[in-house]
Amino acid sequence: MKPTGSRAGELRIGGLEKLSLVDWPGMLAAVVFCQGCRWRCVYCHNPHLLPFGSPAGPPWADVLAWLGRRRGLLDGVVFSGGEATCQAGLGPAMQQARDLGFQIGLHTGGPSPEAIARILPLLDWVGFDFKAPFSAYARITGRDQGKRAQESLRLIREAGVPCEIRTTWHPSLLSADDLSAMAATLTENGCTEWVIQRFRPEGCPDAPLRGAAVGALPDFPGGCRGLRVKLR
Ligand code: SF4
Repeated sequence: MKPTGSRAGELRIGGLEKLSLVDWPGMLAAVVFCQGCRWRCVYCHNPHLLPFGSPAGPPWADVLAWLGRRRGLLDGVVFSGGEATCQAGLGPAMQQARDLGFQIGLHTGGPSPEAIARILPLLDWVGFDFKAPFSAYARITGRDQGKRAQESLRLIREAGVPCEIRTTWHPSLLSADDLSAMAATLTENGCTEWVIQRFRPEGCPDAPLRGAAVGALPDFPGGCRGLRVKLR
């Protein structure tokens, strides 16, 4: 069912980046940082976006009005977070941005396959945060929701929506065996590219993680055939 605009105004926004060249590779995009996330990733750089209440950003109506004046100047709008799929207003807001002529991108870790299924027809691109082997999500996110993330990825892949898979890597969190298992999962899902971004200490609240040396990415043989790994 096509989402209507009636709930778009409920979208809680923690921030707006008016022009980004990096959040959607190859696109000039505005980034809407949606407020709230139920996961607690140990390396989260956006702790201010985790609570669902008291968003610091502008109301969606103001963002929409501003987007109306950016037609022809931006290619798309990326809905990021926090975790954007936690909000019922996401689909209607995406529809309104799409109606203005913008392409629609989403950053997600995939905790809600139900929400992904609802908004799939609106998506032109997804940046999917693949946190860990699906059996080990609690280690990174504090919630044992790898199966839900797995289902979200399956839905996105099956729908043929262009998708960048990216993983934040820290040696204390993901071993070479973990990386190997994750690579195998991606090839099983027909993915051909995997972006691994090294852990960055800035903004991370976890002192031991910040203090540990990150070093070089280990070799992780097995399962990588046909999968191009890009380091970022
Ligand atoms: S899913 Fe994203 S916003 Fe939520 S805790 Fe993890 S890194 Fe932070």
